[in-house]
Amino acid sequence: MRPDPLPESASRPVVTPLSPSVVYASDTPDMLDSQYEGGLSGYTYSREGHPNADVVAARIDRMEGAPNPGVVTGSGMAAVSAVLMGCLSSGDHVLGGNQLYGRSLRLMSEDLPRLGITTSLADPTDVDAFAAAIRPETRLILLEAVSNPTLRVADLKGIAALAKKRGILLAIDNTFTTPAALSPYELGADFVIHSVTKLLAGHSDVMLGYVSAADPAMAERLRVFSVTTGMVGSPFDCWLAERGMLSFDLRFARAQETAAKLADHLAGLPGVQRVIYPTRTDHPDHARAMDLLGGQGCNMLSFEVAPTRAAANALARAAEGIAFAPTLGDVGTTLSHPASSSHRALSEADRAALGMSEGFFRVSVGLEDSDALCETFASAVAAAHGA
Ligand SMILES: *Cc1c(COP(=O)(O)O)cnc(C)c1O
Repeated sequence: MRPDPLPESASRPVVTPLSPSVVYASDTPDMLDSQYEGGLSGYTYSREGHPNADVVAARIDRMEGAPNPGVVTGSGMAAVSAVLMGCLSSGDHVLGGNQLYGRSLRLMSEDLPRLGITTSLADPTDVDAFAAAIRPETRLILLEAVSNPTLRVADLKGIAALAKKRGILLAIDNTFTTPAALSPYELGADFVIHSVTKLLAGHSDVMLGYVSAADPAMAERLRVFSVTTGMVGSPFDCWLAERGMLSFDLRFARAQETAAKLADHLAGLPGVQRVIYPTRTDHPDHARAMDLLGGQGCNMLSFEVAPTRAAANALARAAEGIAFAPTLGDVGTTLSHPASSSHRALSEADRAALGMSEGFFRVSVGLEDSDALCETFASAVAAAHGA
């Protein structure tokens, strides 16, 4: 017989048990029938759902104020794909922000057209540009509130009003801004997407995504599509993500506080040509950022030193203890260099148009002591300055 019965305990565990079981046994065919028909709730096969995924989904649902139960997927990109491929049909047009996450852009340019879904991009800081890009067949708008890595802040309120007026679905990828800084459903979003991999799980040891919908029928489509295409996240990853999310509020508050301090510190250093952080008055979208994010700046900042590869190499080498790695949202501060990583496929002229030179760096601020972090960056910038 398997499994052996669990030892009896009148008291309950305080930590969510890890449930790696792929299959769940029902007592009788009648019972299984009733489970499939929805008369009884119960798990059957873990691709269709398992307790650890449901616990994570419910927690993010609460954080987002999601009107319907969301779905946890095996990655953030699976969540983006669930919306774009699970809820749209051939003939539909998707309009995206022109600085979306790189793989989301690739899904729009490479894969959706193959399925007969056309796509185009517009500048989300310019609501008129978005209005002009709408076509009769435009069915969905995909946006991120804060762009990566130039941290431009979208006119989300303007575009949400436009989408509503024109009867277009609005999907918001809230990965960067998190539910602590932005509530997409309050702004009228139809879908909220997360890469749980980043700030929500927060420890760079889990890859997961999340998606939910305002409309119950769309929520059901997301669920069914994610089950059919096998997007499910593993129980262990969900278990780790839940553990990480227990400290999300504290981590996010602390990282923001340090990011604001580091941004101001960097701005005062010789050799730093530009600092981008939403709460700084010199941010190009400062007023909109303050309004949209309620005075929060999030944990990401970008800055620019002399625009040469030599200066960039010197900076990365001298940033001791800072992982030079193209991810974000980890407990440790990470440094990324778009010209050699996320944006390496662009020509130098295209990068320049986006405001990204060889000297442009993006920082995901973690939980280190802020004074120590400022010192580390001062040394790194000095090394770049001398290079
Ligand atoms: C990382 C990221 C994704 C993709 O998430 P994965 O978990 O890496 O698949 C999507 N959107 C944004 C904004 C991201 O930063």
